[in-house]
Amino acid sequence: VTILAPELVLDESGVRRGVAVVVLDGVIDEVLDEVPEHAERLDGTGLMPGFSNAHSHAFQRNLRGVSERPGDFWSWREQMCELAANLEPESIYDVSRSCFAQMRRAGYTTVNEFHYVHHRPDGTRYDEPNELAQAVCEAAEAERIRITLLLVAYERGGEARFRDPDLDSFLARVQSLRGWAARRPLVSVGVAPHSIRAVSSAWLERLSTVAPELPLHVHANEQRGEIERCIAEYGVRPIELLAETGILSPRTTVVHATHADSHEVELLASTGTTVCLCPTTEGNLGDGLPPTAELAAAHVPLVIGSDSNARLDPLEELRELETVARRVAERRHVLDLRTLLWAGWGGGKKIMTGSPADLVAIDLGHEALSDVEDEDLAAALVFAGDTTAVVRTWVAGS
Ligand SMILES: [Zn+2]
Repeated sequence: VTILAPELVLDESGVRRGVAVVVLDGVIDEVLDEVPEHAERLDGTGLMPGFSNAHSHAFQRNLRGVSERPGDFWSWREQMCELAANLEPESIYDVSRSCFAQMRRAGYTTVNEFHYVHHRPDGTRYDEPNELAQAVCEAAEAERIRITLLLVAYERGGEARFRDPDLDSFLARVQSLRGWAARRPLVSVGVAPHSIRAVSSAWLERLSTVAPELPLHVHANEQRGEIERCIAEYGVRPIELLAETGILSPRTTVVHATHADSHEVELLASTGTTVCLCPTTEGNLGDGLPPTAELAAAHVPLVIGSDSNARLDPLEELRELETVARRVAERRHVLDLRTLLWAGWGGGKKIMTGSPADLVAIDLGHEALSDVEDEDLAAALVFAGDTTAVVRTWVAGS
């Protein structure tokens, strides 16, 4: 048992002072109204739920700098493919591990890794067909960050090593990875049709019915070119195609939705689909301005992702999410603070009995937070803070 005694705790119900958090077997066992003598004192800190990174490609961290050489989204994509073409099991482990270590220092305690580099560079399988996915999960375990490995279905285009020959081979790998992950407490598995570009409607239809208990993520509407191609192929827009093929649902997260039109926003809302916005990456790649105000007005649940991992700072993602939306709407408070925190935590989070002990301690003496009233603390953290305020993190209690 560990008993943590911060100066205050901050969660979706606000700030509480003078409480102690009892952690047992990776879970919050109890929140005490007074601090026992043998508690571990975390003086000068506020304890809050860890941030959730809903969309990452860890290896793309290695594109920092080099990807700023002149070009557009599609030349960036070529550089990404070249980097992906040269990954080996050891090197994907190394780059993932260093990326996950930095995520955790930044206050992320969970990552959804959208993993699409599967096979040898020529497309033939490794002896263990999930060798690279397992290496990424092991990197997460080594840095103790909770991971959902979203195994990506890739049917056409891209590199040979991204693709499976048919959907059954892909689904067999999903099953096998689930078996492998079953005894690994920090690892879980989901599925991810890469995009409308990379997966046909036939694959989408089947993917909507298999393993409905798993989370499903898909990229959509990031670039206008992709929407035009979808209309040329199917006569409908990407999120409309996802609706037609049964992909949209409460277990589904659509990543980006940058150019979603009002009908697509309506489809996302009526199906209970979550949208993951990746503000620093979308800004970096010049994707466009997402319809944040429309999504929020339609009550589409929003989460954030660091995506290409050029920046690893959940507070920056949240701040940029809101300030970009303010510029577009020409008004303040497009998302209320509660919605922003929800996005950062990947859902409503409370420091309470039964919650996982995935926690972040922030320095209340940090220049962004000192002299701020309790009721304004979360706002100051999001709008004035950065990762230098994060002093310690816990995943499953350690
Ligand atoms: Zn992505």
